[in-house]
Amino acid sequence: MNKVYMDYAATTPLDQRVFEAMRPYFSENFGNPSSIHRYGQQAEAAIETAREKVAAVLNCSPGEIIFTSCGTESDNLAIRGAALAMREKKGANLLLTSRAEHHAVSKTAEQLEKYYQFQVEWLELDKFGVVNPAVVEKAINSSTAVVSVMYANNEIGSINPIAEIAEICRQRGVLFHTDAVQAAAYLPVDVSKLNVDMLSLGGHKFYGPKGVGALYVRKGTALIPSQTGGGQEFGLRAGTQNVPYIVGFAEALRLSAEEREARSAHVRPLRDRLIGSILEEIPDSRLTGHSELRLPQHASFVFKDVDGNLLLTLLDAAGFACSSGSACKTGNPEPSEVITSLGLSRDWGLGSLRITLGAASIPGEVAALLKALPELVQQTRALGRN
Ligand SMILES: *Cc1c(COP(=O)(O)O)cnc(C)c1O
Repeated sequence: MNKVYMDYAATTPLDQRVFEAMRPYFSENFGNPSSIHRYGQQAEAAIETAREKVAAVLNCSPGEIIFTSCGTESDNLAIRGAALAMREKKGANLLLTSRAEHHAVSKTAEQLEKYYQFQVEWLELDKFGVVNPAVVEKAINSSTAVVSVMYANNEIGSINPIAEIAEICRQRGVLFHTDAVQAAAYLPVDVSKLNVDMLSLGGHKFYGPKGVGALYVRKGTALIPSQTGGGQEFGLRAGTQNVPYIVGFAEALRLSAEEREARSAHVRPLRDRLIGSILEEIPDSRLTGHSELRLPQHASFVFKDVDGNLLLTLLDAAGFACSSGSACKTGNPEPSEVITSLGLSRDWGLGSLRITLGAASIPGEVAALLKALPELVQQTRALGRN
């Protein structure tokens, strides 16, 4: 039975080279980076080397990198931390964020609204799921604390014009954060070119370990820490650092930057073949997200009158691991907020399918999926009619 992984946007396997870099920090190099003695110094040096590696990829200074426990934590620290700091500093209480954000951003904004008396304004998307900079410009006012718009969308692959949005925020004196967790595997993350104040990363989306992330915080940006305790990470993220994971994170990011073009060149033609064939072969199918401004490994669709979760189950039974955009796994499913915000009706929105490729994807796997999928979509439609 074949087993084909096509869900690299959910997570990527750990690169063997990254694993080797991490290994000594699980065993002989076990010190606490805050300790004074040489065990501690060695661990601290590993973290500072990792920080320099990350800063080199982001084109910033090492003191602007905060290591966290995941992409989600980076988003939380950025948004909650900036919101609270900006309210203290200038009484600002408005958060602007898009309707397509990952829950790490949207649920944080909702919590700030419900329990911390902030107001949230949700920025509308165009039909490709892209945030138009003019929409941001219009929404900013004197009480805006922070704007957060993701770099590339995990569900539909669309890429936002981050540098343009950042420029508007800078002109208006408002902090700008971008969730680059999904983007970093394939897009450049030069924070000086992107001109952002804060940028979130998560290790397991670019062949690093799960459970480690980083937040870029531009020098001089005030943040109130979410987690209090020791003074680690410049006082912004208390808790003894996860040394092996931080080492792995930095090595994985370095390799991603070094191999970015080769990795794109590997997945892009496979993705294009998927999109071309699926739209041609499967009746009532549509691409979601932008056709050009999208991640090179990312193909996402909706099929009319299809139960997306049932389709995923049939695909899994046939050996293909893919994903959908529907928020519920059981019961009464609803199309995801992202799919809904594209303006798709329910009969289309429930039938979403995301196929994301990666390092181990090969043409034979794509061919096998293309052979199986039309029949599986048809079966799903037939089952839905009963
Ligand atoms: C995966 C993902 C996250 C969450 O990152 P974790 O490291 O899994 O917490 C946040 N935002 C986007 C866009 C993602 O794709």
